[in-house]
Amino acid sequence: MLRVTEIFRSIQGESTHAGRPCAFVRLTGCPMRCVWCDSEYTFTGGDHFTLEDVINQVRAFDCKLVEVTGGEPLAQREAFTLIERLCDEGFEVLVETGGFVSTGDLEKRARIILDVKCPASGEAERNHWPNLDRLRADRDEVKFVVANQEDWDFACRVIAAHQLEQKARAVLISPAWGLIDLKELADLVAASGLKVRMQLQLHKYIWGPEVHGV
Ligand code: SF4
Repeated sequence: MLRVTEIFRSIQGESTHAGRPCAFVRLTGCPMRCVWCDSEYTFTGGDHFTLEDVINQVRAFDCKLVEVTGGEPLAQREAFTLIERLCDEGFEVLVETGGFVSTGDLEKRARIILDVKCPASGEAERNHWPNLDRLRADRDEVKFVVANQEDWDFACRVIAAHQLEQKARAVLISPAWGLIDLKELADLVAASGLKVRMQLQLHKYIWGPEVHGV
């Protein structure tokens, strides 16, 4: 059984897949507590679903792209089986993970979008650094949510130390919602000369930051 907060169809709001039709499976629970977390409603509650229930709901959307997210989806062991089953069904599967749980056992056909937590999140010391060594340049993306200059400097150091421009399909720089001026972040990215991509959370601009299930 899996504990699930919501299953819905929308457009992908982030990553290089932004704008694509996408089905989302948002699992309940997260062991982290990022201070700017926008998914606190996933920390508790949720409903218990069998793998079959989840897969049937996803099938009904008739959508080739599926994202398994949370919360922290990989905190539930059965999520690894769900991801494998979705790949078996022929879906293109994205896994959005907060970077605390090892991705070592994750189904290789899935595409990983790996967060690296920056200092302002309050959880930077819990990054599981070996996950960065497993990134695959043809499919995996890495994301830094940046709230201030210190976060940006941290991101630049990690990008250089782990050669992320070469190791990842994309290095995503995302503003912490409401905490950093977008033009300030855009200036930092533009002046960096790095092979990174600033991204906005498209769904928040379309539906607003408080709306769930979109
Ligand atoms: S890892 Fe994600 S879901 Fe968990 S607290 Fe941080 S932002 Fe929220």
